[in-house]
Amino acid sequence: MTYHMTIDGGGGFDVAADEDCLLRGALRAGVGFPHDCSVGGCGNCRFDLVAGEMETLWEQAPGLSERDRKRGKRLACQSRPLGDCTIKLRPAAEYLPVVPARRLEAVLERRRAITAEIAEFTFSTAEPARFVAGQYGLVRPPGAEGFRAYSMSNLPNEQGEWRFVIRRVPGGRGSNAMFDRLAPGDRIVLDGPYGHAHHRAEAPRDVVCIAGGSGIGPIVSIARAALGTPGRRLFVFEGARTRADLCFPSLLGDEMAAVEHYTPVLSAEPEDSDWAGARGFVHEQVAQALADRVDACEFYFAGPPPMVEAVQDLLVMRWTVPIERIHFDRFF
Ligand SMILES: Cc1cc2nc3c(=O)[nH]c(=O)nc-3n(C[C@H](O)[C@H](O)[C@H](O)COP(=O)(O)OP(=O)(O)OC[C@H]3O[C@@H](n4cnc5c(N)ncnc54)[C@H](O)[C@@H]3O)c2cc1C
Repeated sequence: MTYHMTIDGGGGFDVAADEDCLLRGALRAGVGFPHDCSVGGCGNCRFDLVAGEMETLWEQAPGLSERDRKRGKRLACQSRPLGDCTIKLRPAAEYLPVVPARRLEAVLERRRAITAEIAEFTFSTAEPARFVAGQYGLVRPPGAEGFRAYSMSNLPNEQGEWRFVIRRVPGGRGSNAMFDRLAPGDRIVLDGPYGHAHHRAEAPRDVVCIAGGSGIGPIVSIARAALGTPGRRLFVFEGARTRADLCFPSLLGDEMAAVEHYTPVLSAEPEDSDWAGARGFVHEQVAQALADRVDACEFYFAGPPPMVEAVQDLLVMRWTVPIERIHFDRFF
């Protein structure tokens, strides 16, 4: 059974009655519904419901302000159609899925500890793992409400292998469930791929990858893709608190030998330690290292919102890098 969504002003699409939310139904139908995080945090999938009924999945989703709520705005990632509806939205081609998203059953094959808080989870599906480096999948952790977005850290492959680098967030229901309530052999629903901060193999520029915290997952994937693209230089900047929190070398494994420029930057390494590398915030190192070659670079970054904002300020305000050369994910 499907419900028909009429777009006020022209067009429409069908959404399966058992679809998880309007946003994913629209994307699966090939509609470029504006969106970013898919999990209620960013607010980019705001829309107006003109007629019909929709269930709200997460009333307190931070992507809507009080003002939005008063004006009747809704989030497509937190709304589920209960029948035919009319909605107001402006689809845009840039939001069209680059790879069609599917709901797959995934089996946890193994979990490898990377740091005290971060582990690499490897899942397998019966179907090939189709995505572009830098994209994310959505999972519903056992016992937690709603979905969580986790970025793939490997490359697409025919064997159906999906790797994710997940940080255990103190007090976080979803991430803790991934660590404590999933054991090898357990099954989980994996919906994806999503996201537009993916590797642009066609861009004729060097690849700059900047990661903070668990933002390292998609950055490892993009770095792997860049290493496989002839003629691209790769610059990787990893921001972490202490030396023990650095992950990139361990995640990249043997491929690390091919990386010429890796700059780890520590923000909270004890003053008296023998760390001879960079200290401070990761965007400060990017500013120092690349000021004279900005025009030759394509920028990719992922991490917590404050890091993402600092890098955006540097690239957009200080360096006026064209927006088409900037690709990022904020981890809400
Ligand atoms: C595009 C993107 C990619 C990401 N990639 C990674 C990654 O590769 N590795 C990684 O470790 N983290 C990643 N994250 C962050 C990750 O999705 C989680 O936010 C993080 O693991 C914390 O989740 P938690 O459940 O532990 O914390 P919680 O504080 O319990 O939940 C955090 C998030 O879960 C969602 N949520 C919470 N409650 C509800 C509810 N009732 N209904 C619906 N949704 C709810 C919201 O999005 C909220 O921001 C990514 C986030 C985004 C947006």
